[in-house]
Amino acid sequence: MPEGDSVYRQCKMLREALEGAVVESSDFRVPSLATSDVSGRTVVAVVPRGKHILIRLSAAPDAAQMRSGAEPLTLHSHLMMDGTWRVFDRAQNDDAGRPGGRRSSRPGAGPYRPRARRGGSVRSAAEARTRISGDAAIGQGSHTIRAILRTKDVEAVGFDVKDVRLVPTRLEGQELVGHLGPDILGPDWDLEKALGRLSAQPDRAIGTAIMDQRNLAGIGNVYRVETLFMTRTNPWARVASLPDGKLREIVVLAHKLLHLNKDRSIRSTTGEAPRGRPLMWAYGRDGQPCRRCGTTLKRGEIDDALLTVGPELSRTAVQHLRTIAWCPRCQAAG
Ligand SMILES: [Zn+2]
Repeated sequence: MPEGDSVYRQCKMLREALEGAVVESSDFRVPSLATSDVSGRTVVAVVPRGKHILIRLSAAPDAAQMRSGAEPLTLHSHLMMDGTWRVFDRAQNDDAGRPGGRRSSRPGAGPYRPRARRGGSVRSAAEARTRISGDAAIGQGSHTIRAILRTKDVEAVGFDVKDVRLVPTRLEGQELVGHLGPDILGPDWDLEKALGRLSAQPDRAIGTAIMDQRNLAGIGNVYRVETLFMTRTNPWARVASLPDGKLREIVVLAHKLLHLNKDRSIRSTTGEAPRGRPLMWAYGRDGQPCRRCGTTLKRGEIDDALLTVGPELSRTAVQHLRTIAWCPRCQAAG
């Protein structure tokens, strides 16, 4: 599941593949952008903001031909639950389609069929590149493509990415990411500001408050579950009920874990990854014994839309339930 660290790695991959290159053609498969064309523009930057991906494009070289407006644009996308960007070598794809060219491993397999095989062999530079994002689900079909940017050398393809939009770069803050709290992986990370925003929601469950991207951006369900377990915090505890220093401990730990994992393809919060297997304290381990006390970890549901806990519930929007794992002993309610 994409979290701040996955978005960071996706951006790194896109940056290496696209930055400085001219877009030769583009293809947006969302209704609102059906007629948009960013060809001729140069990719000037690829920037992660929380869980949002911003691909910044230069002004159009020939304004008269550009339906999307001449000024610099930002292509926005969000990975949500299962979106992923992948980068393919154009030479490789062109070969695959030509008689006598390199054949796909399966008859009828299109250029976007999975090329990664079990056992870890890497067949092309493109595949090596796509592997930088270790948690990208391999195997999306072409029907899930939402955006394609082609340069001379590569094709960057957004599979199942959400909220694909083109916005003037000067309006990024206003229209795309201005609502976000401090970015936990950003160069301008501001711990005190994040703590301030969390403290301003005293009646909220800590488990939902740290997931709210308006408080701080970048934490997803994996890091929520792990940081709450590691700091022995009950997910439903009110923010105001936490002992002194606990809020800071939680956020500092989340920051540390995301940074430790941002350049790794295998996510680990326990400090180990034997045989390349991700190692978690609690995430995805409900029904299994707690690694600390042996108690069976529980499965719980937490509503991220809830703004308060207790008898007078208020919520932001529709119920948004997520499944979490927690230890009823290590993380007992206060
Ligand atoms: Zn335990």
